[in-house]
Amino acid sequence: MATTKKSKKISAPIDERETFVSLQKTFADSETNTEEKLHILYELQKADNEIDKLVLLRGELPAEVADLEAQVDACNARIDSLQQVIAQYNDNIAAMNDDIVSLDGEIERYRSQLEKISNSREFDSINKELENLGILRKIDEKKIGESKDAIAENKAAIENVKTKLDVLAIDLEAKNEELARIVESTAKEEKVLTENRDALAAKLDERTLSAYNRIRASVHNHLAVVTVYNGDSCGGCFNTVTPQRLIEVASGKKLVICEHCGRIIVATPSAE
Ligand SMILES: [Zn+2]
Repeated sequence: MATTKKSKKISAPIDERETFVSLQKTFADSETNTEEKLHILYELQKADNEIDKLVLLRGELPAEVADLEAQVDACNARIDSLQQVIAQYNDNIAAMNDDIVSLDGEIERYRSQLEKISNSREFDSINKELENLGILRKIDEKKIGESKDAIAENKAAIENVKTKLDVLAIDLEAKNEELARIVESTAKEEKVLTENRDALAAKLDERTLSAYNRIRASVHNHLAVVTVYNGDSCGGCFNTVTPQRLIEVASGKKLVICEHCGRIIVATPSAE
């Protein structure tokens, strides 16, 4: 079996329809000249960095608020279900009480019969009935007692959940206020940055922009466009860039992609 020498060309897909090679081709073919486009990419990355900083300022707050809200919802659902259980026990108690009323009626009837008894056999039979009815009555009373205990337990559980809810509500209010304060203090700045960012993005063709977004989303520091670091390294992954590529970067006439991390490497603008 013959081993084919692997091409060193980067053909890793940026997305389903885009590879670095095809992107390089579009980049060169497009109306806007490469130099200008690379500069737009550089500026776009800078604008996105500023927006990222603002989002970072909010930190974990949005996630914390969402988590607290979920806990509040869970507590309310728990209270609802405990209240349903209590309602069921109350229904049971009402049914037992009705049963006791009818048992009492029967007991009353048998007792009045006892007064008109003529023989001992009848006496024994009625007493037996009364005894049975008494047992049934005791069972109902026992069930009522148990239901009342269960209701008390469920009510205590509701109080516990309500105490937890009070703590959550205080926490949630504080976090919401803090978040609102940060958003308000940065809203103006964020609006300006976002408008600037969108204006830059609008200058790029769809394929380049989608590649930029894709690279940005795939790298941990969200840097899709980097400059040369320390004279000969990629500013994104700090791996050495070949001399040939360094020349291409410096010329500003070609889209150069880091062969190690896939980031776009551009020259540092001379004004800076
Ligand atoms: Zn790199």
